[in-house]
Amino acid sequence: MYTCSTSLQSYLDIKQRLKAAEVIRELLTSNNYIIAVEHDLSVLDYLSDFVCCLYGKPSMYGVVTMPYSVREGINIFLDGFIPTENLRFREESLSFKMVENAEEMLVEKNRHYTYPAMTKTLGGFKLTVEPGSFTDSEIIVMLGENGTGKTTFVRLLAGDTPDVEADRQVMAVSLKPQTISPKFPGTVRMLLLKMIKAAFMHPQFQSDVLKPMNLDNIIDQDVKTLSGGELQRVAIVLALGKPNVSVYLLDEPSSFLDSEQRIIASKVIKRFVLHAKKTAFVIEHDFIMATYLADRVIVFEGQPAISATATPPQSLLTGMNRFLASLEITFRRDPTNFRPRVNKKFSVKDREQKAAGNYFFLED
Ligand code: ADP
Ligand code: MG
Repeated sequence: MYTCSTSLQSYLDIKQRLKAAEVIRELLTSNNYIIAVEHDLSVLDYLSDFVCCLYGKPSMYGVVTMPYSVREGINIFLDGFIPTENLRFREESLSFKMVENAEEMLVEKNRHYTYPAMTKTLGGFKLTVEPGSFTDSEIIVMLGENGTGKTTFVRLLAGDTPDVEADRQVMAVSLKPQTISPKFPGTVRMLLLKMIKAAFMHPQFQSDVLKPMNLDNIIDQDVKTLSGGELQRVAIVLALGKPNVSVYLLDEPSSFLDSEQRIIASKVIKRFVLHAKKTAFVIEHDFIMATYLADRVIVFEGQPAISATATPPQSLLTGMNRFLASLEITFRRDPTNFRPRVNKKFSVKDREQKAAGNYFFLED
């Protein structure tokens, strides 16, 4: 029997995660079995034959369900409800909009922004950004393999100087960096009071962000002693609480979070952007979360560490199709909740969808 914890996958891109899943499956023989712990639900779906859900109260108790088929198990987890036990373990469920409807959901937009064509050279790497525009009340997800310049682009939006200095952006933004190194000498509460006092005291922010992100039980802990997932939750709250900005740049917010926390964080980010009429750019490798969050997507294409291009923001369907085509991965959707599911490589669906150019969702 093998047991493997795949939290090391945190920073891997989707291609690397699926590759790791294939390597793990190659360990299977007729007389062994593998138990895996995995927070990325698309990867879990691809990796597993059976799924047990665990629910309960952190640091109090946990319950392991019977093994379900992988489809059933993941749907139960997303739904927050176990039909065989008639038991709800989470109030909210996660559902996925149908691609066709995404652009039809009309939200009144008041602010329009544009950014110019830019390039940024870093050592032997060159990023080319095609010009783009965006509005308030939308989330733009950035998709691309590691080393294709996603972090570099986010930094350009945050005011880093591009190759042509005149193109420098001067928007007021809030950035949650990809790597978080805590140097603050004090507790979480002291940090929040210092950095985002107004939001921290505001009832709406408390109920929409602080409470669901569950900082209660770590609020008096020293920042330097926090675990990776705890730091990530604090960093997301800090980023969303920054005053007087309209654009939020979240670089890999789901790293180090478990599936449950990813669902909650995604809901918090989505609700915040819509209620406060803000814009968020989110770099996200967890495909379930990316699909849930994205109103539009920017695709990074090219050769990692050499040169890459960032497309303008484009529709979910077009963008996802383009991204998946470049990775040669196809997704179908679950008929009950439209959740994206990776097709096994060379399966009938995979071959059919590739032949038709439908890498994202097979229209049915
Ligand atoms: P991503 O976020 O998509 O993984 P990054 O924007 O972090 O990619 O990096 C893109 C490429 O630029 C990588 O190959 C990285 O090694 C390189 N790079 C990033 N920062 C620097 C730097 N300061 N000097 C030289 N190369 C850099
Ligand atoms: Mg990065």
